[in-house]
Amino acid sequence: MPQIKIVTRFAPSPTGFLHIGGARTALFSYYFAKKHGGTFRLRIEDTDKKRSTEAATQAILDGMDWLGLGHDGDIIYQSKNIDAHKKTAAALLASGHAYLCYLTPDEQEAERLKSRKEGRAFRSIYRNMDIGTPDANTPFVVRFKVPNGETIVDDAVQGQIKWNNKDFDDLILLRADGTPVYMLAVVVDDHDMGVTHIIRGDDHLVNAGRQKLIYQALGWDIPVFAHIPLIFGPDGKKLSKRHGALGVDVYTDMGYLPAGLRNYLTRLGWSHKDMEVFNDQEVIKVFDLSDISKAPARLDFEKMAFINGQHMQVASPEIILQYGQKFLDIKNEGPLDGAELVRVRKALPTLLPRSKTLIDFAEQAYFLTRKRPIILNGKKAKPLKKPDAKQRLSDLHFLLNELKEDEWTAEDILVTLNAYIADNDIGFGSIGAPLRACLTGGAPSPDLAIVLALLGKNETLGRIEDCLKEF
Ligand code: GLU
Repeated sequence: MPQIKIVTRFAPSPTGFLHIGGARTALFSYYFAKKHGGTFRLRIEDTDKKRSTEAATQAILDGMDWLGLGHDGDIIYQSKNIDAHKKTAAALLASGHAYLCYLTPDEQEAERLKSRKEGRAFRSIYRNMDIGTPDANTPFVVRFKVPNGETIVDDAVQGQIKWNNKDFDDLILLRADGTPVYMLAVVVDDHDMGVTHIIRGDDHLVNAGRQKLIYQALGWDIPVFAHIPLIFGPDGKKLSKRHGALGVDVYTDMGYLPAGLRNYLTRLGWSHKDMEVFNDQEVIKVFDLSDISKAPARLDFEKMAFINGQHMQVASPEIILQYGQKFLDIKNEGPLDGAELVRVRKALPTLLPRSKTLIDFAEQAYFLTRKRPIILNGKKAKPLKKPDAKQRLSDLHFLLNELKEDEWTAEDILVTLNAYIADNDIGFGSIGAPLRACLTGGAPSPDLAIVLALLGKNETLGRIEDCLKEF
């Protein structure tokens, strides 16, 4: 039997930002396609002209780009396929699977209310063609003629779902203005794009039943459906604006790395053995729809930070600086200069184990990027107001100045500092507190000798001089 080529797609409606749930749907579709050497397509469902905007399309593309979710082939814009949708509606009419319905909007509404009241699905009197057709100028919609029987979908995540067809409305395929509705457009486009697996949110589950009927009426192959549960907020309630964590852009601003967010989102609702922290290659090797959980997943920001932190440790300096620069600039209220960037880059092995997010990273790097002179006041200036602080700093400035550039290492610096406290019979605190205040201004920082080593000789001596002048 020839191997079928797997085609998946992500089909967002451009009515807002890239929703975090949508991003996860896209990720699952991407991984599934890649696992099987297939293709992952992107289709922008922009037929609802009132609600679709170019800005929203751009936000979705930007979000996918940031997340590193590359799609195969050109982007398909649903609004460009209207002819194909109409042609398909005509074919359904010709084969008797659809009919022209001449109910006026008021009549439709009345019938809708009546059918709801009687607890049955919508049927139009025009379903029975014997009723005759009014003159050609009367507006009409094209309705799908739901057949008798039942519809079964073997969903790859939800299992077998069964509907009685009499519970399905005779849905509109083409509106009175001739435009296609989503239910028709999605079937036609998925078919034309050769989509083999439809992976999407479980809010579309019941649509799968309706869409299967349309596929059957057309005699088309029915794709595999996989409906994934929604993402809930940390409080267990459906994710909403209230949670403030809907769009991928929010996570960008929270300082996550794309690889960290990809890992977290994938793990949210999908699990494989004890895999917790993984990269794309690792997940692609094992990704299977059967490992997606049926239960809704709950956002857990602590876990998200933990996973992101693990990715921070293994990310290349280029990646950290590419995504982290924005946070360094924010923290420093302006762009870093070349020397500062070099300093930060050299310090990455020290900074990253202390950083779960890029915001932490900018915070940890702050002592390296502060502008001279560092203003010390209040509690921060206290260590420098001790009677012998100035003398200690002055002595240390002299001793440290003696170190040659190649001796400017944490080890050699520590030897110098320790020799000084031994010679003067004082505790480390006597030099540690004023020195740290001068050099970091109270910003988070590692061991003192490491601080000096990372700052470099010039910057260290300069910052000590600033303090000697000030106090
Ligand atoms: N455009 C639909 C949405 O954004 C998705 C349609 C589908 O995946 O079949 O909810």
